[in-house]
Amino acid sequence: MLNSYDYIIVGGGAGGIAVASSILKRTKDYKIAIIEPMDVHYYQPAWTLVGGGAFNYDKTARSMEHVMPAGVDWIKAAAATFEPDDNQITLADGQKLSYKILIVAAGLKLNWDGVEGLKETLGKNGVTSNYLPGLSRYTWELVNEFVGGKAIFTQPPMPIKCAGAPQKALYLSCSTWRKSGVLNEVDVEFHTATPGLFGVADFVPTLMAYMNKYNADLNFQSNLVKINGEAKLATFKQINGDGNEEIIEKSFDMIHVTPPQCAPDFIKSSPLADGNGWVDVDHNSLRHVKYENIYGVGDCMSAPNAKTAAAVRKQAPIVACNSINSLKKGHEIDKSYTGYGACPLTVEHGKVVLAEFGYGGKLEPTFPIEPTKASSLNWLLKEKIMPPVYWKMLLKGHEWLAKP
Ligand code: FAD
Repeated sequence: MLNSYDYIIVGGGAGGIAVASSILKRTKDYKIAIIEPMDVHYYQPAWTLVGGGAFNYDKTARSMEHVMPAGVDWIKAAAATFEPDDNQITLADGQKLSYKILIVAAGLKLNWDGVEGLKETLGKNGVTSNYLPGLSRYTWELVNEFVGGKAIFTQPPMPIKCAGAPQKALYLSCSTWRKSGVLNEVDVEFHTATPGLFGVADFVPTLMAYMNKYNADLNFQSNLVKINGEAKLATFKQINGDGNEEIIEKSFDMIHVTPPQCAPDFIKSSPLADGNGWVDVDHNSLRHVKYENIYGVGDCMSAPNAKTAAAVRKQAPIVACNSINSLKKGHEIDKSYTGYGACPLTVEHGKVVLAEFGYGGKLEPTFPIEPTKASSLNWLLKEKIMPPVYWKMLLKGHEWLAKP
């Protein structure tokens, strides 16, 4: 017999756990399953701090069992295919499950194969990435021991999760070298596939001032395509001043790589996907545009917000309310998601520019602090306040400043 649930949630990351908890805060009437294959749940936003020597990596991981909300069935497996016309999903082992409401919260795919030679050399030869669990410790090892030479930081084409994270790695490295007195011996380069430093213009002057302060050489429309770790060579496809594509080779002593990112394959190949592979949702209600009993939350869906845990904090309660209303039928659908996301840019140790914005780059500051300036209060928020807000509020259904 087919196992049936009122709710099936695919993914036990920030989005999946937060929505489950937000539903359970409102009602215990429904049978909920979370499908999640991994044993460990990570607080990814702190990995930038780990790479800058400002946070203990062990504190970013908790057992999946620990974060699963009481009253939910944890199905420890990977979802493989969606059959939305039959209200069913199939797991990797072939088991089928049926649902009344499906919530897709499977995150995004880090495409390590998208850069030739990268997988073979990650974690050695001075090649690192804060995006891989555990490797932020290697970032810190490299940065802390660096006494001079060429340091490159890369950013792939958008969208990526936490679009500020590639430059945050640069800022904290430079801040470390400035403090230890070796910055003058370091040749710093930032290569981004994007045409500008940050997608929201209001924040660019402050960020640019920090890039200048650290004497970083900025390379726009410069996309890392290949790494030879042993030879310490990085290859970029760069659009030059005439608009032509050039292949540029750079030697490095250390390189921080942000991998190309895309929708997970099993979503991309499913009927739920839009043309780019993301779960195709209405940008304000987060309900699927075709299937009314399906929702998307977090990094895996199509809304053009900044893909961050901060965005999940606002999305989860809306998805919880809307899906409960869908089950009750006839109730109104909340369309209040404004695209809020936040990116705390750690421009130096002890200072953060807290970029909070919604669709179209509209500033949405939470606190009455000048939003485009670096502040020590925002560092405190990032280092000390946001981690407990994540573990004890977001994952537990306490919707602090996020109730719809
Ligand atoms: P995730 O939390 O990644 O969870 C997805 C889950 O789905 C995972 O547990 C995965 O195992 C599971 N899954 C995958 N495939 C399947 C499948 N087939 N079946 C079932 N389950 C599956 N955000 C901020 O707000 N602020 C920051 O400062 C910040 N900095 C960041 C820095 C770095 C280096 C990184 C990597 C991320 C950062 N983020 C930050 C982004 C933030 O962590 C993500 O946006 C957030 O975790 C998204 O939540 P999610 O649930 O969509 O995805």
